[in-house]
Amino acid sequence: MTEPIQKCCAQVRKKGLRWPTFSPCRHNATVTHDGKPYCTQHDPEHVKAREKARSQRWFAEAEQRLQGVARLDALRRIADAAIAWRNGGPLEAVRDAVDAWEKLK
Ligand SMILES: [Zn+2]
Repeated sequence: MTEPIQKCCAQVRKKGLRWPTFSPCRHNATVTHDGKPYCTQHDPEHVKAREKARSQRWFAEAEQRLQGVARLDALRRIADAAIAWRNGGPLEAVRDAVDAWEKLK
């Protein structure tokens, strides 16, 4: 007699419900992890890799956002220095602000 096909043991959240409700995954198991059957999607190794990729993406985006903030900051400093120069402030301050901006690029 052949073994019955094992189902994945992961609990899946049902969509579209107000309260989180979980039910067993309906996929057939393809891997065994710590003696438990999992489908390809819920294989703990696969889940870990997906979470790692997601966090790497998040950090890359956060870094881009920070760079954007730094650029805006540098632009603001140029504008402030330019306004100060128009009101008799030192031209050096404008040059320094522009230098700081150039360094960001
Ligand atoms: Zn599954």
